[in-house]
Amino acid sequence: MATFRGVAKDELDIRQVLKARFGYDEFRPLQAEIIGNVLAGRDTLVLMPTGGGKSLCYQLPALCLDGLTLVISPLIALMKDQVDALQANGVAAAFVNSSVPAQEAHGILTAARAGRLELLYVAPERLAVPGFQDFLGSANVGLIAIDEAHCISEWGHDFRPEYRNLRTLRDTLSSAAIIALTATATAKVRDDIVEQLGMSRARQFVSSFNRENLTYIVRPKRRPFDHLVQSLRRHADGASIVYCLSRDGTETLASKLSRRGLPALPYHAGLDSSVRRDTQERFIRDDARIIVATIAFGMGIDKPDVRLIAHYDLPKTLEGYYQETGRAGRDGLPSECVLYFSAGDRAKFTRFIDEIENPKERERARQKLDQMIAYGEARTCRRAFLLQYFGESYDRPDCGGCDVCLAERESFDATEIAQMVLSAVIRTGERFGPAHVVRVLRGSRAWKVLEWRHHELPVYGIAGDYGRDELKEIVSLLEDEGLLQRSPDKFATVSVTAAGHDFLRRRESLWLSRIRGDALDPQASSHDPPVHSNAPRTGGETFSVNPELFEQLSDLRGALALSRKLPPYMIVGDQALQEMATFFPRTRDGLAHISGISQAKLEDFGDAFLNAIRTFADAQDLSEQANSQQRARDQGNGRPDFDPELFERLRELRRRLSEAREQPAYVIFSNRTLEEMARTRPRDRTSFAELSGVGPAKLEEFADDFLQVIREYVASRETA
Ligand code: ADP
Ligand code: ZN
Repeated sequence: MATFRGVAKDELDIRQVLKARFGYDEFRPLQAEIIGNVLAGRDTLVLMPTGGGKSLCYQLPALCLDGLTLVISPLIALMKDQVDALQANGVAAAFVNSSVPAQEAHGILTAARAGRLELLYVAPERLAVPGFQDFLGSANVGLIAIDEAHCISEWGHDFRPEYRNLRTLRDTLSSAAIIALTATATAKVRDDIVEQLGMSRARQFVSSFNRENLTYIVRPKRRPFDHLVQSLRRHADGASIVYCLSRDGTETLASKLSRRGLPALPYHAGLDSSVRRDTQERFIRDDARIIVATIAFGMGIDKPDVRLIAHYDLPKTLEGYYQETGRAGRDGLPSECVLYFSAGDRAKFTRFIDEIENPKERERARQKLDQMIAYGEARTCRRAFLLQYFGESYDRPDCGGCDVCLAERESFDATEIAQMVLSAVIRTGERFGPAHVVRVLRGSRAWKVLEWRHHELPVYGIAGDYGRDELKEIVSLLEDEGLLQRSPDKFATVSVTAAGHDFLRRRESLWLSRIRGDALDPQASSHDPPVHSNAPRTGGETFSVNPELFEQLSDLRGALALSRKLPPYMIVGDQALQEMATFFPRTRDGLAHISGISQAKLEDFGDAFLNAIRTFADAQDLSEQANSQQRARDQGNGRPDFDPELFERLRELRRRLSEAREQPAYVIFSNRTLEEMARTRPRDRTSFAELSGVGPAKLEEFADDFLQVIREYVASRETA
């Protein structure tokens, strides 16, 4: 296999390395810039969300640079995964940590010293192991990659004292460049990383935290189980994680799901470690599709094809929520995150929070929880909310990927009810929260209403025919509209703004827009995020994934994985399967163009996949042919002008095109369209465009070829 080591770095085309060694066609945002910086020998700090593709930023340079790339990584499980994945791509990589016997570790270090390894992964503790410093002195280390770099900072959420040892690397290996990577770092932590690692001249790359392929859904926690069952069914052929608050909760929910025909395994810190390892292992190998877990699950898991993350209980912080949802769709394919939200869940946490002794921490926990609740209650775009929380601005009016932006809205005339609400706020003295105002409007006999003698007000009971939730929603909408405002203190009293007074004075009419009521029931809102919306586009036409072939290829992948003892996603990713089931590559060259097919994978698995595709495509052509003969008998023969000979010629042309383009024949034209062509014999583009199955794109691409065959055929007939 071609290797790029030792090639002068300004000569090599890193894109070519990307395709040959990793099988990818395109860089993800910032990857190319980061790799360029690393290859130029400069220090680099990378801040990228989970799934953003950090690993490639040091793995690709490792293959181009002379010398060894030393990777510091804190999680043993992850290390093994990464090394397995690299080896599956034919990269010489190994790891040394406490799980590796001394004898074996010695062999690995010897290989590294002799230049036979491209990447060596070690845990930070290793730096303190006797002899390791000597090794570093004698090995030719060209690049140091520090993964999860926030662990070095006490300001981070994951401080690891052993990371402090990394400071020495700068001196021991003064000629090697450093790249530090993290998914979570506030400005403070970032500064700390730079200082601790002595990389003050590092270039910093901060990528957007927007995960375009994730759909964020918040659902009121009403009959959440039924909705969860539906969502899990929808993602039945992918992996899902459901997060619960308590250990008991995970056990109960897992068995309830299993009884509903959705086999699920619980995972929490109270389980035996061997059980936990086994569960995790089965999940990675697609042997267990659904895990119901406390937040403990997912840390060391790099599984790229998780399609659904559901939060059955409220997470404690938005940071945690973002991190957990981040485990969905790392491979960039559309995936869904559902939060079952009830403001009542706040009470569950308040107890925990009250038990926190340190008053400062207690206050912080409370604030974090308030943010989480604000997220659940927001009626604005979830994505924008999350990104703004993490300090990024997002001002597209419609993200197209959250429950708010996807919901069907309805406008309604709110003139009268708005007047009523504003009057009630004024009449009650602008010193109560929305709940009280709503009680007064609905004519409640609650003690607080009577005590304040609000039952004597003219507004008392004037909106008795409105529901409580409906009125609360209207109060919120009026806030959004700027006619009402809420005090920022904990009493959250409502008052009328200047704009609100104007509105009352001018007696303007007011239309508001709200999410349609039926959008909130499970059936109506089970809008499927389009699973194949990433299907590649060619020539302006969207081709679709053939689900049968996809399934067959996925089975084949499972069998290959089993025989190699690798997780299926390390054979090839879902994206690759989808592209294969879309473009039907028939040759090795064609297969090499599929995303994720590196040279090594082409060698290893190419023939297996090509065989499956050929067999499938041939069977399909046969049945398509049989169908059309049937149709020809049924209708064609009845029409004197259906010309079987012309039909054959057209089909011949289609076959040639299909081979040349590596596309299934029916993607060009269906037999039905060819039959119509053979019957109506269009002579020009205008009449060609009238055939059924001919859109503007196909007209552009194919009309000339087919018209030529028809013209030649007709001419040959006339001269004959
Ligand atoms: P992170 O460490 O930032 O969470 P990873 O490095 O694990 O992310 O990458 C997430 C997934 O994206 C992996 O499956 C990886 O193979 C894939 N990936 C990385 N870069 C690309 C790319 N340029 N094109 C397609 N897939 C990529
Ligand atoms: Zn949105």
